[in-house]
Amino acid sequence: TPAIDWDAVRADFPLLQREVHGKPLIYFDNANTGQKPACVIEAVDGFYRRHNANVSRAVHQLGSEATDAYEASRKALARFLNVRAEELVLCSGTTFAINLVAYSWALPRLQPGDAILVSRMEHHANIVPWQLVAERTGAVVRVVEIRDDGTLDQDALQQAMTPDVKLLALTHVSNVLGTVNPVREICRDARRRGIVTVIDGSQAVPHRRVDVAAIGCDFYAFTGHKMCGPTGTGALWARREHLHAMPPFLGGGEMIREVAFEGTVYNDPPHRFEAGTPNIAGFVGLGAAVAYLERLGMEQVERREAELLAHLTEELQRIDGLRIFGTAPDKAAVVAFLVEGAHAHDLATLLDLEGVAIRSGQHCAHPLLKFYGVAATCRASPAFYNTHAEIEGFVSALRKVRTLLA
Ligand code: PMP
Repeated sequence: TPAIDWDAVRADFPLLQREVHGKPLIYFDNANTGQKPACVIEAVDGFYRRHNANVSRAVHQLGSEATDAYEASRKALARFLNVRAEELVLCSGTTFAINLVAYSWALPRLQPGDAILVSRMEHHANIVPWQLVAERTGAVVRVVEIRDDGTLDQDALQQAMTPDVKLLALTHVSNVLGTVNPVREICRDARRRGIVTVIDGSQAVPHRRVDVAAIGCDFYAFTGHKMCGPTGTGALWARREHLHAMPPFLGGGEMIREVAFEGTVYNDPPHRFEAGTPNIAGFVGLGAAVAYLERLGMEQVERREAELLAHLTEELQRIDGLRIFGTAPDKAAVVAFLVEGAHAHDLATLLDLEGVAIRSGQHCAHPLLKFYGVAATCRASPAFYNTHAEIEGFVSALRKVRTLLA
């Protein structure tokens, strides 16, 4: 494969040209949400300018163009993840996707005596829906612990997969530690024990090639806005047999075949789970994002981000009193850290004045921060369109603001 001109790639992202507080922006908050290339912005704009209509309803030309564009995005996403389009439910993002599994799959099935396993490193979106299900069914939520380096404790996981466990909810990649979990092996073990698996792919799909079929999970949730797509887009992939066995989550238009007061006939999956008017323009944008990522190649994206991560980690390790959380051998470009004597929010606030955008706080992962005994951390998460020069700019800004706090 020919070498990619990463400066040209960066130029595809209009927002990265702007300044913040009079300084060139260094956007290192990609784990939170990603920036959008011009082709995605133009796809959304073009949809509203030329094709806007509702989907799956009207016989007129615009209606069929909108429906075709929406379904083309479903197909593109399915190809990207190596799954069948009929098994992909389009929705507003990971949070919706996991709640759909919780309400439509877990709620009618789980009972007192059943257990749901989650890991210590989950995002709240992969904890709270299971707590809600547990409260209503009498099932319990159990935690699989991690090791100090931020990897999942595999022995603890093996021991935790007892016969009462019905479901395992696990993140593919941690949004704080960057840890990449060996989901393929884990899903195989779970399947052997009859445990249904829900994988949170929010931080994986944007950063590496994800072959959902090869992972062998039951459900795979992800979000569009971290993978160059618009906010309010995402999907749930589910095995066909699950989708056919699941009652609808939300009721309304689109999800029905026939409505009568004597009884309503639901549409087939995936439409059964897509009640109401979807974020059509958003999915047109997400289709463009998938095409963009495919043009770059996810292997190239992964390699580029690994280089940026190595550079960033090396630079940060040179700073006295800086502690990095999460040092897994297989790690995505997310670096959570603290600097001795400086509060995470103070650092992030002062860095903002230098034009640097990082996140500080708990990253929707309170139980994980509790494990490390800290109230908050900073988190820097570069993406493929960031540069080595920005890493140097960030680190020198960090050194500067640290002296202000000392
Ligand atoms: N899970 C993980 C691992 C995440 O990083 C995020 C986004 N921060 C979510 C779930 C939730 O995604 P969304 O807000 O798009 O629903």
